[in-house]
Amino acid sequence: MSECIFCKIVAGEVPSSNVYEDDQVLAFRDINPEAPVHILAIPKKHIAGLKDVSPEDRALIGHIMTVLKEIARDEGIEDSGYRVLTNCGPDSGQIVDHLHFHLLGGRQLGKIG
Ligand code: AMP
Repeated sequence: MSECIFCKIVAGEVPSSNVYEDDQVLAFRDINPEAPVHILAIPKKHIAGLKDVSPEDRALIGHIMTVLKEIARDEGIEDSGYRVLTNCGPDSGQIVDHLHFHLLGGRQLGKIG
């Protein structure tokens, strides 16, 4: 997994602007933000995408969702609203093959798709 850019961020080999970290999850600001708040939350362990999540990851994924809502609160977008999304596979435009959830907010986001 050494060629995975997000694994390198987890390992501290690539710099990132972190907003949250625990033993399972890291969240950091997107390097090319598409909204005033654009944060990525990732599992520290390498999972390529949502299609690769297994039943034993259930608690981990739930934990990431809880982390995301706490970040949204801390970023001041709890009341204005926000979007959480993950891209999976070519048609979605996924470019980094390490599961990540985008947290977007701070402006009117418009329709999906
Ligand atoms: P996607 O795979 O299309 O869901 O999106 C991957 C996201 O990762 C994009 O929004 C990129 O801007 C972001 N990204 C790629 N490399 C880095 C990095 N080194 N630090 C922070 N964000 C990154």
